[in-house]
Amino acid sequence: MTENIVDVSHFSYSYGELQAVRDISFQVKKGEVFSFLGPNGAGKSTVINTLITLLPLQKGTVQIAGYDLGSDQEKVRQSIGIVFQKITLDKDMKVGETLEFHGSIYQMGSAEKKNRIDELLNLVELSEKADALVSTLSGGMKRRLEIARGLMTRPKVLFLDEPTIGLDPQTRRKTWDYLRSVNKEGTTVFMTTHYMDEADLLSDRIALIDHGQIIIEGTPAELKQSLGNDIIYLDTSDNPRTTEILRDLSGIRKIAAYEGKVAITSEQDGTRLLPEIIREINGQGIDVCAVNLKKPSMDDVFLHYTGTEMRD
Ligand code: ADP
Ligand code: MG
Repeated sequence: MTENIVDVSHFSYSYGELQAVRDISFQVKKGEVFSFLGPNGAGKSTVINTLITLLPLQKGTVQIAGYDLGSDQEKVRQSIGIVFQKITLDKDMKVGETLEFHGSIYQMGSAEKKNRIDELLNLVELSEKADALVSTLSGGMKRRLEIARGLMTRPKVLFLDEPTIGLDPQTRRKTWDYLRSVNKEGTTVFMTTHYMDEADLLSDRIALIDHGQIIIEGTPAELKQSLGNDIIYLDTSDNPRTTEILRDLSGIRKIAAYEGKVAITSEQDGTRLLPEIIREINGQGIDVCAVNLKKPSMDDVFLHYTGTEMRD
């Protein structure tokens, strides 16, 4: 039986009149990387900030590492590591000191502290920078140091809010590597992101969140497969009529307008459906200008379930 290390049930949160999160429930299994994927304003930070005890629990029940968030905040806090959305490092501290200080707050013994610092600087490839001032680090190095700090106390769950926001593509990729190693070490990872590639590549499971609700949840493969086999993008001499004509054709799961084209989600093999589609619309006097066929991506998943493109 797989153990749920995070168990959230009927969670809601309001800022005054504004209901930011509406009655969501989800579980994170021990050892997995679980992502909240959604656009800005979806409610991701509100949920994660409540789980890490920065915001009060207003409604619902939350269990983390077996402790009840409502009654055992201190135990929850001791079981988790946190990496915030904004860099929160002290610029005037050295890299090693930053970890040292964090370990002291949590009353780690000095030998244990030293071992852990060596281990973590090694993990995030900052050993050479141990004596450098935080202010001299690049953005990517700062993020790596924050990840190391979040892991100092060997948390059962590491929480990260948008771990690669504002980083360049190369540094993002590096950060993903570190998060993978962290996870391999046995740490459960709970993260939020609005980057679909990130969620797709890193997560064992994803919960798609928008307007304070979970829209769908599953492994990246499950989410993509739920769209059908292939997606066909068509540009024709008359896209509105094409949409009308294809409504009755079998083998099509969904037709939507996307960036001025007709997006068709195919039930089965799209390469076989496509000639049929072309025959059908040619027969009605419509010309095909451009065709594109691809496997569903995480972007397509989002488009399908929210009807909007991901807003940055
Ligand atoms: P995300 O992290 O997915 O971008 P947030 O949880 O930050 O979303 O925000 C969810 C909603 O709550 C948004 O509509 C946002 O404007 C609102 N919100 C967030 N923080 C506050 C706050 N401190 N006061 C009022 N409204 C807030
Ligand atoms: Mg946020």
